[in-house]
Amino acid sequence: MDLLAPAEATAAPPLRDRDQIADRFKWNLTSIFEGWDAWQAGYLELDGKIAAFAALRGTLDDGPGSLLGALKLRDEIGQLAYKVWYFASLWYDQDQRDNEINARRQQVQILFAKEAQATAWFDPELLMIPLESVQQWLSREPELAVYRFAIEDLYRQQEHVLDDKGERLLSLSSRFSSSPNDAYAALSTADVKHPVVRLSDGVEVTLTYGQYRAILATNRNQADRAASFREFHTVYEQSVNTYASLYNIVLQRDWFHSQARGYSSTLDAALHGNNIPPTVVENLIAATKAGTDPLRRYHRLRKRALGLERYHSYDTSIPLVDFDRKYPYEDVLEWLPASVAPLGAEYQRLMREVLGGQSIDVYENPGKRSGAYSAPVYGCQPYMLLNYNDTLDAVFTLAHEMGHSMHTVLSHAHQPFVYAGYTIFVAEVPSTLSEGLFLDFMLSRATDERERIVLLQHAIDGIVGTFYTQVMFADYEMQAHRLVEQGKPITADVLSEIYFGLLQAYHGDALDYDPQSRVTWARIPHFYSTPYYVYQYATCFASSAEIVKQVAGGDPASRASAVDRYLTLLKSGGSDHPMTLLQKAGVDLSRPETVRAVVDQLDALVTRLERALSILNP
Ligand SMILES: [Zn+2]
Repeated sequence: MDLLAPAEATAAPPLRDRDQIADRFKWNLTSIFEGWDAWQAGYLELDGKIAAFAALRGTLDDGPGSLLGALKLRDEIGQLAYKVWYFASLWYDQDQRDNEINARRQQVQILFAKEAQATAWFDPELLMIPLESVQQWLSREPELAVYRFAIEDLYRQQEHVLDDKGERLLSLSSRFSSSPNDAYAALSTADVKHPVVRLSDGVEVTLTYGQYRAILATNRNQADRAASFREFHTVYEQSVNTYASLYNIVLQRDWFHSQARGYSSTLDAALHGNNIPPTVVENLIAATKAGTDPLRRYHRLRKRALGLERYHSYDTSIPLVDFDRKYPYEDVLEWLPASVAPLGAEYQRLMREVLGGQSIDVYENPGKRSGAYSAPVYGCQPYMLLNYNDTLDAVFTLAHEMGHSMHTVLSHAHQPFVYAGYTIFVAEVPSTLSEGLFLDFMLSRATDERERIVLLQHAIDGIVGTFYTQVMFADYEMQAHRLVEQGKPITADVLSEIYFGLLQAYHGDALDYDPQSRVTWARIPHFYSTPYYVYQYATCFASSAEIVKQVAGGDPASRASAVDRYLTLLKSGGSDHPMTLLQKAGVDLSRPETVRAVVDQLDALVTRLERALSILNP
C-alpha cells in the first residue's frame, strides 16, 4: 500500500541476533505444528487427501451426497494447506538465509501445484450439472446449503466462460499475458542505469527509487530535491516511447480478453469477479474530482509552513516539523486496545488475546523478511510479522496489521471454512479503520504541538497517498483503456497528456508544475502488473471513513448500531459479494456521499493542522 508513501527516515534500533531477543517478542509456531516431524506428517496427510480428491472425478452428478462429500474434502484440504504452508513459510521468514527451510517451503509450493492439477476437474464438472438441479439439491440437503453462495457464484462467473475450444485458445494466449510486465520490470529495474545526483553538500547519490524517496522525505534543501526529481525522471523520459509501447500492450491485452469473453468494456471485465458495478468506480472518480478543495488547501498550507516561494511535486513529502519521539512496543501494547474502545469491550478483549498470544514476531533480526504482514492461519490465531523500530510509522503499521488480524479472528470464528477468507475489496477496510481509531487516540493524548502536527501530517498523507493518488491512478487507467476500446492510438504523448491533465485537475494552482511530471505514468508498477487494482485501496478508504463517521458520531443508540453493523461485516468473511457485505455495514459505494466522507475527513484534518501550526508559529 505504500506506493507513494514517504520513505522511512529514522534510524532503526540496533540489530540483534534472533536468540538475543526475548521469547515474548517472537512468535511461537508450535500452535501450528509441534515441530518438523508433525509438519512432515501433515504434509503427507495433505498429499493423501489431494489424491483422494482426484479420485472423486466423475462422481458429482451422482447426487447431493457426492457433491457434499467432495466439498467437505476440499475444505479439509484447504484447512490443512493453511497449516502446512504457513508453518514452513513463517519459519522461513524468520531467517531467509536458511536454505533447508527454504527447500521445505518450496516443497509445499510443489504440492500446491499438484493440488491445482488434482482439483482442476471440479468446477467444469459441477457446471455440467444444470443450476436448477443443483439448486434442488441445495434445498434438500441442509449441510449442502452452506455452500449455496459459493456454488451460485461459480455459475454466475460461468456467463463469461467460453466453450472448450475457446478456453483452450485463451489459455494458449495466456503465455504472453505477463510479457509487458516482465519487459517493464527488465527495463525499469534490471537494465536501468540509475542516474547520479550531486547534492549541495557535494555528496553524490545514486538515485535508486529508495534513495530518491529518501531525499524527497528528508532533504530540507529544495534545490537538492529539485535536482533529484529532474535526474530521476530523466531515466523515464529517455525511454518514454518504449514504456508507452509496453503499456499499449497491457491495454490491448485487456481489451482482447474483454472482447473474447463478451464484456462490454475492460472495466466490466475487471469488476465482474467481485460483482462490482462499474458505476462504483465511475462514482468514485467523479466524486473525488469534485472534492479536491481540501487537497489543494493542504498543499497551500504546506507551501506557507515550509516557507517556499514555489511549491512543486517534489516538495510534497518533506515533514512540516522535525520530531523524533520513540514509541516503545510495550507502550503501544497498552494503547492499541485502548484506541478501539469505540468498538466495544469484547473487541478489546479479543485484541488483547491476539497481542498476548505469542503470535507476533516483533523485532528485526539478521535474515528476517522486511516489511510487515498479518497471516491468517486457519485454526490458529493470526500470526503477525513486524520489523518494529519504535518509529511512528512502525506504530501505525502495527495498528494497520492488527486491523487485518481482528478481521481474521472474527471471520474465522463466525464463518464456515469455505467463507473464512475475504477479498481485497473489503480487506483494507478494517486495517484503515484501525489506523483511524489509533490516530484519534494518539491525537487525544498528545500534549506536544509538534507531535500533534506529525500525527496530523501522517493521517493526511495517508489520505493523499491511499485515496487521492489511487483514484487519480484509476482515472488514468480508465481513460487509457477507453482510448483503446474506441480504437484510438496510444503514444507516449497521448499518455503523458492524460497524466498531466489529471495532475492539474487534482491540484489546480496549488502546485507549480514541472515538465518531467508528464512522464510519471511510465514508472508506476501497478499500471503494468495489476491494471484496475489500486482503486480498491480508495474504495476501502471511503468505506472506512464512512464507518468511522457512523461509529463516532450521532447519539449513543445510532453509534451502537453502527458498531454492530461493522462487527457483522468483519464476522461475515467472504460469505457474500463485497458490495452486499458493505451495504449491510451501512456503506453504499455507489453514492457520492460515501466518497464525500473522505473529503470531509481530510477537510477537518487540514483545519486541525492549520490550527496546530499557528499555535507553534503564532
Ligand atoms: Zn493492509
